Amino acid sequence: MNPISLYLHIPFCVKKCGYCDFLSFEYQPHEIEKYVSYLIKEIKLYGNEIHRPVRSIFFGGGTPSLLSGQMMVDIMNQIKGSFEILPDAEISMEMNPGTVDRDTLKAYQSAGINRISLGVQTLEDNLLKVLDRIHDVQEVKESVKLIHEVGIRNFNLDLMFGLPGQTLENLSHTVAEMIRLGPTHISAYSLKFEEGTPFFESLKKGELTEVEDEIDREMYHYIETKLFEEGFLQYEISNFALPGKACQHNLVYWEKEDYLGIGLGSHGYHLNKRYHNAETFEAYFALIDKNMLPIVFQEEIDGDEDIFEYIILNLRLNKGLGLEKFFIKYGFQFIDQYKAIVDSLLKEGLLKLENDYVALTSRGRDLSNQVFINFL
Ligand code: SF4
Repeated sequence: MNPISLYLHIPFCVKKCGYCDFLSFEYQPHEIEKYVSYLIKEIKLYGNEIHRPVRSIFFGGGTPSLLSGQMMVDIMNQIKGSFEILPDAEISMEMNPGTVDRDTLKAYQSAGINRISLGVQTLEDNLLKVLDRIHDVQEVKESVKLIHEVGIRNFNLDLMFGLPGQTLENLSHTVAEMIRLGPTHISAYSLKFEEGTPFFESLKKGELTEVEDEIDREMYHYIETKLFEEGFLQYEISNFALPGKACQHNLVYWEKEDYLGIGLGSHGYHLNKRYHNAETFEAYFALIDKNMLPIVFQEEIDGDEDIFEYIILNLRLNKGLGLEKFFIKYGFQFIDQYKAIVDSLLKEGLLKLENDYVALTSRGRDLSNQVFINFL
């Protein structure tokens, strides 16, 4: 049986950040307890249906580090009871600085967590305030110290750029400080003003301003160059890792492999079907109470849509789309089928062909959406 991956969503946060459009809510402690008990039931329901070994697990949110150590142990025990977890499985969780003490982190680790993704964003206190983050720089340093002390060697730091008021000098200070903290992986994203967020409203009122595209790209290229000098290999548009430390779970998404989405509003992809779970607690609990998976939407991804998804997901990877793998999967040659498009993108310097892979160039990464649309 082909291995599968699991994504588990923990939709609680201490306080909503102004830019955030993820499905997460400020919470009461008893709400987490109830939610965890339903999450465990949902895992059990999947275990009755799907008998594939698990190669990666990712706890995302929200703030998964609001779970107590015992809650994580209970969830992981249910996963172990319902699925075979492969011995080298990557088991990651997102953690927010300042939310975890040593005993809780140790409990996570003994439950099986072997990789942490820490939501740092910036190492400038004034910019953390602009972002409405609950932590300060000192708490980041303390959390990283704890991660090192308990012996979790594999950890990511999230880095955000293009922040209101951020300068290239601020960014270079943050990047240098992040590297000093010893991560194995850095995810770098530019701030987006998503509709429906307080940031979007502030942008409309002129209280916040977006950085210009040119500066955004300058910051991105700075990060690419600096991380490369420090030994980090860029393996995806937004992700950089020390050799051998690329996030296995993220690769599942980009290589279009199967994963189950578990928890409120989670998205999954299984046997060519994309689906998502109920997005309100009432609907989520009600379906599980009926011993049903809380899926409220699913669609078959096949034909051209499947191929288009496969192309754009694989092109996000620095190594690009493997031509032989594509041929084995779809039974025709990528280059023959898309000859006119590929030729024109090669000519424009947006794509390159290397060792049986077709990949975005550096300029192609800057204009990735423009490239992807060609394959629609
Ligand atoms: S901590 Fe993360 S999920 Fe929670 S509100 Fe902030 S950005 Fe959103």
